[in-house]
Amino acid sequence: MSLFDLKGKVALVTGGNGGIGLGMARGFAGAGANVVVAGRNREKSQIAAAELERMGVKTAVLEVDVANEASCRKMVEDCVRLMGRVDILVNNAGINIRKRPELYSLAEWREVLSINLDGAFVCSHAVYPHMKAQGGGKIISIGSMMSIFGAPFAAPYAASKGGIVQMTKALATAWAGDNIQVNAILPGWIDTDLTKSARQQVEGLHENVLRRTPARRWGEPNDFTGIAVFLGSKASDFITGTAIPVDGGFSVSG
Ligand code: NDP
Repeated sequence: MSLFDLKGKVALVTGGNGGIGLGMARGFAGAGANVVVAGRNREKSQIAAAELERMGVKTAVLEVDVANEASCRKMVEDCVRLMGRVDILVNNAGINIRKRPELYSLAEWREVLSINLDGAFVCSHAVYPHMKAQGGGKIISIGSMMSIFGAPFAAPYAASKGGIVQMTKALATAWAGDNIQVNAILPGWIDTDLTKSARQQVEGLHENVLRRTPARRWGEPNDFTGIAVFLGSKASDFITGTAIPVDGGFSVSG
């Protein structure tokens, strides 16, 4: 069996209906995993799932609001009921509200934290007993360059993404003995719906990213298929607690 083979595995991807989440879902499906696409927008999820099914795997679509604890727990239970197991969880659902720090309301701060960080914790908490009972699993959470750097328009987002990295380390140390590997991915600047709005809201962003990224391009969702297979498969069984940039060199460029 290939190190990267995911046949018989089930991957649950929050926000798997577009952008980076769909790029990762394509990686799982390409390696043979059945994929559960979870998001708020059912129609968008159904279109994504249809694409994955054409790759020859089974899929399911689940509606979830990761800001809601009961909704996250139901998603995990439905995944196990429909697909029989959960081997890989991707905590990918995320939002940003861009403004200067002094302009946020507490409600806006909490909205970003509750989707990006609380959601990742609750989903991880909900899959843990299943993965433990199965003898192992993989949890992959999506951080950001804002896990490392600051920006004047991203205080709650940076707090949530910094939190993802530290939560990843904590869960990794706690669950390594259960053969559950917990890792984070730190995307650079990727062309998705999220950053389409950023390019409109932050002047000069498009050109600044091109100038600063050694690869001289924005990333694309399909840049995440490889890391998804790697972190979801046996190939990464001794790798846990890490935060791996997928950024065309952005984070190492002076
Ligand atoms: P998209 O806006 O394309 O994807 C975000 C996804 O999250 C959507 O599929 C959306 O699905 C889902 N989502 C948002 N809120 C919720 C919620 N409350 N409950 C369930 N699902 C939700 O953007 P990206 O692909 O760019 O973002 C994916 C992740 O990558 C995010 O965590 C983002 O912070 C991170 N990231 C992105 C970067 C980039 O440059 N694009 C850089 C660094 C990190 P639906 O609409 O159906 O709810």
